[in-house]
Amino acid sequence: MQALPIDGVALSRQIRADVGRRAAALTAQGRKPGLAVILVGDDPASAVYVRNKVKACEEHGLHSVLERYPATLPEAELLARVAALNADPAVHGILVQMPLPRHIDPQQVIEAIATHKDVDGFSVHSAGALMTGLPGLRPATPFGCMKLIESTGVNLKGKHAVVIGRSNTVGKPMALLLLQAHATVTVCHSATPDLALHTRQADVVVAAVGRRNTLTAEMVKPGAIVIDVGMNRNEAGKLCGDVDFAGVSEVAGWITPVPGGVGPMTITMLLVNTLQAAEEAARTTA
Ligand code: NAP
Repeated sequence: MQALPIDGVALSRQIRADVGRRAAALTAQGRKPGLAVILVGDDPASAVYVRNKVKACEEHGLHSVLERYPATLPEAELLARVAALNADPAVHGILVQMPLPRHIDPQQVIEAIATHKDVDGFSVHSAGALMTGLPGLRPATPFGCMKLIESTGVNLKGKHAVVIGRSNTVGKPMALLLLQAHATVTVCHSATPDLALHTRQADVVVAAVGRRNTLTAEMVKPGAIVIDVGMNRNEAGKLCGDVDFAGVSEVAGWITPVPGGVGPMTITMLLVNTLQAAEEAARTTA
């Protein structure tokens, strides 16, 4: 069996076209959706992520504000900037790029973002809304993974999903979203003694580890959907995921490539969240 690729670039293009249309409709009402991105320090990878987010906003008719600060920025000043953006009606989403310098407590900063502007969905409030099934802003990466799975047309009800990784930003929210879609969910992590025992039974595997070749062909059930969140570099410095793409493609039913799978969907779902926040603001302040 040769797996069908799940094309995150094509799906992103479709979703972003819809974002563009909805953003234009809000702009016509004088309510242009706006995202504020704060970058503290000069981590080169963070600078690239932030640039891509701002660029995606500009390309799809969203207003974007990029605030850059030196790594020495005191925590109190960062919190004051977040408070100012909370009060700014032109800003519907606030994102503070992680990681932050060590003297700043990231959770403190995340919790300072107004709940309705928490487009990363990392706050305790957003996590609680997800856990209890209440409406709210969902973390972009797992949200994007759900869209990729939906694009296969496979109904998750009654399916067995295995999530490898239990981070607050990817693994845990991913497991909750799958549960909400009525899958039976197993979460594996570094203390799971026999990973393959679980993945071999899975109709869906989401790998979010950050280690190459965590999932290989003999660990996958024939026909399974495989979503690769990992972002790693091989010996040649080329971007690759957690999944042995060539090997697993021989067994799985569907598979996301790296690059071109989850990555583009993450930024796309950030745009969707910003738009959702702007639409909600328009409804509540009409
Ligand atoms: P993280 O916080 O480091 O979490 C990694 C998880 O993998 C942890 O729960 C860890 O278990 C688990 N793990 C480590 N070794 C394992 C093993 N041998 N077997 C099973 N589980 C193992 O990373 P993250 O932020 O969730 O990100 C995961 C990967 O996704 C990274 O490569 C990251 O760069 C990538 N990522 C990509 C995007 C995108 O847009 N494409 C977005 C976010 C993240 P413990 O909890 O026991 O330590």
